[in-house]
Amino acid sequence: FGARAANERSLAPLRVDPSSAGAAVEIRNVSKRFGELAVLKDVSLSLPPGSVTAILGPSGSGKSTLLRTINHLERVDAGLVAVDGELIGYRRDGDTLYELQERDILKRRADVGMVFQSFNLFPHMTALENVAEAPVATGRSSRAEAQAFGRELLARVGLSDKAGSYPRQLSGGQQQRVAIARALALRPKVLLFDEPTSALDPELVGEVLDVIRELARTGTTLVVVTHEIGFARQVADRVVFMEAGEVLESGSPAEVLGVPKHPRTGAFLAKVL
Ligand code: ADP
Ligand code: MG
Repeated sequence: FGARAANERSLAPLRVDPSSAGAAVEIRNVSKRFGELAVLKDVSLSLPPGSVTAILGPSGSGKSTLLRTINHLERVDAGLVAVDGELIGYRRDGDTLYELQERDILKRRADVGMVFQSFNLFPHMTALENVAEAPVATGRSSRAEAQAFGRELLARVGLSDKAGSYPRQLSGGQQQRVAIARALALRPKVLLFDEPTSALDPELVGEVLDVIRELARTGTTLVVVTHEIGFARQVADRVVFMEAGEVLESGSPAEVLGVPKHPRTGAFLAKVL
């Protein structure tokens, strides 16, 4: 990518070129290394607005790194990522891309919510305080507005009665539902889930998947890294199978899960099913 400008200004939204117009997330020819290790190798995906994409693949295949490039927690070495037509981490000036400054990156990152395997709630805050924190801290809402919307979001994830509870007073499934409400508080255009049920006891997995299923119905663009094949089959529009930093195949659940083209996909599915 092009040179770094000495003194970046705050920027008007820029649209990526028309071939990706309309995609909620456009990942084009993205490569990323950690030292000698090529973690993402020329990955391209185009996710329509309102779509639900499930990413499957063995441990170490680059799934988390790919998610992290979408909100610029990882910088790509080559290629580009755009969310709702806006480049992540860069601005374009003619044919040159300039890296954005931290301040602008943070602003843009609010478009992309993320939910982690390990909930990551603030332990000293109640459920409602956790959900209301970011809109207030980023100056987007008054505390009163953030709390009113926070209560609405807690109701959406079925936790109206837990607004005043602290994380330690909640089950893992309830904590993860608070984390989802918190991710929604900034009204993101895209929501990323990195193995959202992997840390849960089996009996708590369903309540979290139900919330994600409901979000899918309401038209939020979702990307879910998961080993829950049944969930992927029912809820995803598209299934992406990754191995060793590459997208080996992607398609409808019926295609990828039903009649995998790549023998590695079949071998993986045989192990997790
Ligand atoms: P997955 O989520 O599919 O398990 P990851 O994206 O977490 O895979 O990791 C892909 C590869 O990159 C792994 O080999 C992992 O060890 C390596 N990796 C991830 N993050 C870093 C990092 N910050 N520094 C060095 N290597 C990393
Ligand atoms: Mg991972």
